[in-house]
Amino acid sequence: MKKTILTGDRPTGPLHLGHYVGSLKNRVELQHTHETFVLIADLQALTDHADHPDQVRRNILEVAFDYLAVGIDPSVSTIVVQSGVPELAELTMYYLNLVTLARLQRNPTVKDEMRQKGFDTDVPVGFFVYPVSQAADITAFKAHLVPVGEDQLPMIEQSVEIVRRFNRTYAPVLVEPTALVSTIARLPGTDGQSKMGKSLANAIFLSDSVDVVAQKVMGMYTDPKHVRADDPGAVEGNPVFSYLDAFDPDAASVEDLKRRYRVGGLGDVTVKRHLIEVLESFLTPIRSRREELRRAPEQIIRILREGTERGRAVAHETLRDVRHAMHLDCC
Ligand code: ATP
Ligand code: MG
Repeated sequence: MKKTILTGDRPTGPLHLGHYVGSLKNRVELQHTHETFVLIADLQALTDHADHPDQVRRNILEVAFDYLAVGIDPSVSTIVVQSGVPELAELTMYYLNLVTLARLQRNPTVKDEMRQKGFDTDVPVGFFVYPVSQAADITAFKAHLVPVGEDQLPMIEQSVEIVRRFNRTYAPVLVEPTALVSTIARLPGTDGQSKMGKSLANAIFLSDSVDVVAQKVMGMYTDPKHVRADDPGAVEGNPVFSYLDAFDPDAASVEDLKRRYRVGGLGDVTVKRHLIEVLESFLTPIRSRREELRRAPEQIIRILREGTERGRAVAHETLRDVRHAMHLDCC
């Protein structure tokens, strides 16, 4: 029997290069050998965008366009909109009893994100407990594998703990998930910060135009000590080289550029111009497929409706087992 994959994205904006290397690439490769569910997590997006439901709704379509443009094939992958599966909210409610406040407070990704967003005790409770709702998403689909970027590893760890506690306390109905981290687990932002993020104003989006890509690359952070082309420069912690590692198919030429940059004599502008070319050959076909898809939004809506219906049927079955195990099926 095929193993099941569950992954997803928050519809907080269109998808970026980090999503591609961190997760989308794996999904496209694995969709033919695995039963794949891809969740557009609009309920999770609302946890820190409660005042902007219109934006979240608009972004559902943007994310769906990106999926199809990079090669997620709706005839083999099931794209599910989270709010169309109320079973996920129900399951979250049950799991909340199995997790302590202290455990949630230890989650390093949530801690980082709270710091970035300036949340303290004013954090929306829904945001604070999103690892629990993510555990519900993963387990409702009985996923074995979860392709994620490195920032999501604590969520998978938390999900495994919930599964073990549930199976021990009630009955062994849940599947323990395993994270699948890609070779590039965390693509840095254009600002040199450790993670490119939709909400961090440091992303190159798959849908950015040629001009915007060029402008973002030219403005990218590099080694601040590499002032003149002749100065020796650092490759480590330099996002320009991280992007070349991720997107330039000619690894030998990247190694050569790194060598020349380290000893001095290779200017930032030259490397950045090369990066623009590399990104353009990757992005051009994606951009044109995306443009085509945008012309037929009704087709995308149909794909989302059908996927959500299929996903809901699977979650419904899991919830039947969960309720039975929890003695919640007396009438
Ligand atoms: P937001 O800033 O709204 O949280 P995001 O850019 O972090 O958006 P998510 O929707 O939270 O994107 O993440 C979706 C998936 O993409 C997750 O598996 C996450 O680990 C992965 N991912 C996100 N950013 C990166 C990145 N910079 N490098 C590698 N993987 C990433
Ligand atoms: Mg995120």
